[in-house]
Amino acid sequence: MILGFVEQDGGKVNPHSLEMLTLARRLAGETAVPLHAVVMGEAVDGLGAYGVSALHIAQHPDLTDFAPAAWAECVVQVMAVERPTAVFAAGTERGNEVMAYVAAKLGAAMAANVTAVVPGDDYRITRLRWGGSLLEEAWLKGTPKLMTVAPLVIQATMVESDEVEVRPFPPNLSAADLRVMVNGRTQPESGKVTLADARVVVSGGRGVGSAEGFAVLEELADLLGGAVGGSRVATNLGWRPHAAQVGQTGTRVAPDLYIACGISGAIQHWVGCKGAKHILAINTDPDAPMVTKADYAVIGDLHEVLPALIAELRQRIQSE
Ligand SMILES: Cc1cc2nc3c(=O)[nH]c(=O)nc-3n(C[C@H](O)[C@H](O)[C@H](O)COP(=O)(O)OP(=O)(O)OC[C@H]3O[C@@H](n4cnc5c(N)ncnc54)[C@H](O)[C@@H]3O)c2cc1C
Repeated sequence: MILGFVEQDGGKVNPHSLEMLTLARRLAGETAVPLHAVVMGEAVDGLGAYGVSALHIAQHPDLTDFAPAAWAECVVQVMAVERPTAVFAAGTERGNEVMAYVAAKLGAAMAANVTAVVPGDDYRITRLRWGGSLLEEAWLKGTPKLMTVAPLVIQATMVESDEVEVRPFPPNLSAADLRVMVNGRTQPESGKVTLADARVVVSGGRGVGSAEGFAVLEELADLLGGAVGGSRVATNLGWRPHAAQVGQTGTRVAPDLYIACGISGAIQHWVGCKGAKHILAINTDPDAPMVTKADYAVIGDLHEVLPALIAELRQRIQSE
């Protein structure tokens, strides 16, 4: 059996978990074993269409929100009964954290950000390294094999849907498992699109100069129905909240248009925005990596370029 740990939030399945199930299903098919899934808290629908034949649901009053060690303990308890040959999670922050706990609890090897698997006694895996700038071929040894699947690499595909056998279970959790858990949430301003979902992202870096300097980026994002992001410099300096950080240690975005304002394009930032269909760089330095890699570039001071762009857009909107 192969097990996929599926992330959900309020009954909504994380799309990267569906990408993960697609890779796990291929491996299950190649090794002629069933694919099971495990979720925390509440049941989710529709996993049969991704090849899942049985769904294990860990039901416990403290599992309503993210608690990495507790979630990992639930996965380990399913593994103890079902003895999977391989366990997958999505290569999200949560997926990587939970699987790292699972690996530590079992003393097993774990490979993060896998993009392809060739089964055998040892698995030959390909995985993303260095923030996605390098593909590594490696052997994964031992049983069970623990892996997370790199987000946005595999397209989630469906199969003809079969009945899913639902298997709720009460996990046995200790106080230590619940030492780290989410105990509150701050909702983003209502009506605004989130960074991960936005079709346009207007992002700012050190070149923006201050928290107040982001007002013009907010204005452009509002006009385009987009979201505002930032580089790590912008979040470290407190100009933007951490949730707005794009990059290796922030959010990876894949909008139709990414507008990088005053961002140099360091590799750790680039890996977070390179999935955009089009990139526009606005920068005073024609040699900045963001400028040389972007589809379009405007060389100039963003505090002059952005107001001019906004004025032109407003004029076009009015004349339509
Ligand atoms: C382990 C690790 C993880 C990291 N993770 C991330 C991450 O997730 N995301 C991230 O962003 N970074 C990350 N970093 C930091 C990264 O290496 C860079 O330091 C950072 O991205 C630089 O931010 P920046 O482009 O805003 O600043 P800078 O590199 O200082 O660039 C500022 C740019 O603004 C331009 N500029 C200046 N004034 C203007 C103006 N008036 N108009 C137009 N352009 C102007 C300059 O020409 C320059 O190109 C990470 C680093 C490490 C070591």
